[in-house]
Amino acid sequence: MRTSQPQTIYLNDYRVPAFLVDHVDLRFELFEDGARVHSVLSMRRNPDSGDRSGALELDGDSLRLESVALNGSPLSAGQYEDHGDRLVVAGVPEAFELAVVTWIEPQNNTRLEGLYKSSGMFCTQCEAEGFRCITYFPDRPDVMARFRTRIEADKTAYPILLSNGNDTEQGDLADGRHYVTWEDPFPKPCYLFALVAGNLLEKRDTFTTLSGRAIDLRMYVEPRNAEKCDYAMDSLKRSMRWDEQVYGREYDLDIFMIVAVDDFNMGAMENKGLNIFNSSCVLASQDTATDLAFQRIEAIVAHEYFHNWSGNRVTCRDWFQLSLKEGFTVFRDSQFSSDMGSPTVKRIEDVTLLRTAQFAEDGGPMAHPVRPASYMEISNFYTLTIYEKGAEVVRMIHTLLGPELFRKGSDLYFDRHDGQAVTTDDFVTAMEDASGRDLSQFRLWYEQAGTPVLDVSDHYDAQGGTYSLSITQNIPDTPGQKDKKPQHIPFALGLLDSQGQDMALNLAGEGDEAPTERVLDLTEVSHTFEFTGVSERPVPSLLRHFSAPVRVVYHWTREQLLFLMSHDTDGFNRWDAGQRLAVDVIQSLVGAPVDAEIEPRLAAAYRQLLSDESLDQALVAKMMQLPSEAYLIELANSPDVQAIHRARERVLSHLADALRPDLLNCYQRHGTDGDYGLSPQEVSGRSLRNTALAWLLHIDDKEGRDLAIRQFGEADNMTDRLGALRALVNSGFVSDREQALEQFYQRYSEDPQVVEQWFSVQASNPATGNLEQIRRLVTHDAFDWKNPNKVRSVIGVFAGQNLASFHAADGSGYRFLAEQVSRLDNSNPQIAARLVSPLTRWRKFAPVHGEQMKTALERIRDKTGLSRDVYEVVHKSLAG
Ligand SMILES: [Zn+2]
Repeated sequence: MRTSQPQTIYLNDYRVPAFLVDHVDLRFELFEDGARVHSVLSMRRNPDSGDRSGALELDGDSLRLESVALNGSPLSAGQYEDHGDRLVVAGVPEAFELAVVTWIEPQNNTRLEGLYKSSGMFCTQCEAEGFRCITYFPDRPDVMARFRTRIEADKTAYPILLSNGNDTEQGDLADGRHYVTWEDPFPKPCYLFALVAGNLLEKRDTFTTLSGRAIDLRMYVEPRNAEKCDYAMDSLKRSMRWDEQVYGREYDLDIFMIVAVDDFNMGAMENKGLNIFNSSCVLASQDTATDLAFQRIEAIVAHEYFHNWSGNRVTCRDWFQLSLKEGFTVFRDSQFSSDMGSPTVKRIEDVTLLRTAQFAEDGGPMAHPVRPASYMEISNFYTLTIYEKGAEVVRMIHTLLGPELFRKGSDLYFDRHDGQAVTTDDFVTAMEDASGRDLSQFRLWYEQAGTPVLDVSDHYDAQGGTYSLSITQNIPDTPGQKDKKPQHIPFALGLLDSQGQDMALNLAGEGDEAPTERVLDLTEVSHTFEFTGVSERPVPSLLRHFSAPVRVVYHWTREQLLFLMSHDTDGFNRWDAGQRLAVDVIQSLVGAPVDAEIEPRLAAAYRQLLSDESLDQALVAKMMQLPSEAYLIELANSPDVQAIHRARERVLSHLADALRPDLLNCYQRHGTDGDYGLSPQEVSGRSLRNTALAWLLHIDDKEGRDLAIRQFGEADNMTDRLGALRALVNSGFVSDREQALEQFYQRYSEDPQVVEQWFSVQASNPATGNLEQIRRLVTHDAFDWKNPNKVRSVIGVFAGQNLASFHAADGSGYRFLAEQVSRLDNSNPQIAARLVSPLTRWRKFAPVHGEQMKTALERIRDKTGLSRDVYEVVHKSLAG
């Protein structure tokens, strides 16, 4: 907490550390009323630093200093300065040993940064700057050291004591206490330090690496979760194998450990050899987890595991380089998920998130480049831009280089920088050196914020048999950045003839051997490409596979979109054509009279999708999802949220009415038979079945209601049970809905992850999540302000998904969110800062809403003792 104005930190101010730490020796004495941390740092002055005589400065936060000793001699109070957030020791020699003892109170740590207690266990979260809440240390990622950690605690309450590396020693102590010593042979930055102590159940497995080393795999969970570990363990083994096969990366320690924790600010953390997971991102069983949850677990387990190389062995020089590890690792986990399931479906999911949420971020007050130039609080920069856009940037390098050269580049990057803390520029340089490609203009993707807009127009000359495509790029202004330079954009495309076949793409002046799909390099503001030998007017299939994170503006006719929807050979663009058509139809109904006609060809197209069993059902399942309200709002200028909500609901009702027999048929065809499994066929079958159910209940269909009630009662898995519950909640069958919600809660009240789902289902729906009901949910016995998952599942879902309620005309939703943010800011500023986000886009909305959103932000701003986290987001949103 602070009252003075937080400082901005600039990339340009980066200086190499004045001191290096070679070795860290830690001893933790854990007690119920606190913990004593003994730290011995072997340090020396950095030969690369210009500062050869300055005082030693270490970072700290919320520490009680007990003693300081230099080379074994205790220092008196006059020999050091304790500023609370800094410990300064002047006159230290060239090389020395500094011993510091601090006292901390993990049991009172509600920020969940550093060492804290959650459900009776001790655990840590040190990224980005949590280690300074444990002991005084140069808390920056470019100080890499070898750690030895001894943990001492009561043996009965904390039989399991874990840290990074390999366990080298253990034994009993007096008073029923015991200790374990861990040694990590790999130098690492302190943000990768981890400690866990608790009464946990251990699950074991093994993995044999490419070179034949046996790795001991261990999962630690609370005993009640014993049956929920298998999927994560299997996912881990698949990830380990995949990283060997695709990137040639082998695991390096003897043990790999995963711990599940209920109270966690993030999804999971890649601490060296000891990954700590939010329970909701690692625990799963058929009865408690949806298909989506299984997929997320596989992806997150892989993501954290892949960090062992992209993040841990090669880490970030400073936090401006966060995307170095996150963008690359998200790209890697997304490749992995594609390989494990359907590449097209994975692409659709990634792009949906990007276009709905990252584009919104890139167009709002917090817009920042993939490599930001400044920040106040680094916790605010764990954003979709750093992660998802960062992954898109790496993906474009992969597209430009091709898979073989990309692999050469990644090998060079890992070889060249193993054990180092480096920059995004070092990554790009390795890719350039390995491939011989010039990526100098491409680097602008790291430096310029904002989503490029590509205006595309075309012209067909029947006589000359030529088709020309003109593309102009424009990158909107963002806070602090104007008049941007054109970026290097890989633009994949195909042209379809009237039979739906891909045409040869012969550029003027080329030979006859033409491909039917190609990637154009856009490097100028404007380009015109002329294709020759084009025998008929083609339908363009633009930006195939979403080859760059850009908006494409081209005036497709509905005719063309319907054609692409059923013919495009690129599955992604087939889905996208359906989305564009649905968006167009919904937009045309926003504010239109209630009896305005709805495009009849839309229902016909969906009917065809539902009836053609030869189609990839996973793709059909995705195509049956109408664009979300959030996406429709993102596409609109001064969106009228209520009108968008009504228009979308109208289209949904219209489609459900028109397709009723087809939906019932689809439901029956994808009925459950046999055992539950997670193959793409089974997952898409359940998705289609539950979409059909949801649509039927949207029009309060009696037969649909009976099916939903039966499915709710008989389901043997959470996807179907929750699907039925969601459909009932979305229907007008009020008493069925209430009954189902009650039964669901009774059945799962002991399972926090399922209760989170139960909260979300209600909070996301206008019928069960109006403000009064939301206020009831946050006073429910199962709600817990100290648990980030619960907060997200009610307040986050209400403001982020239940848009008609959140944007209520009287501004009550905004005031409610402001109240909750102010309240949470006292206990957990990171979570509070993330919850503010929906208010930050107040300028996008019509003044009647925008002004009220702004007032809500000002109320938060005026709170005394605002955290740096919330301060930064609120002030940037209100500025300018
Ligand atoms: Zn990560």
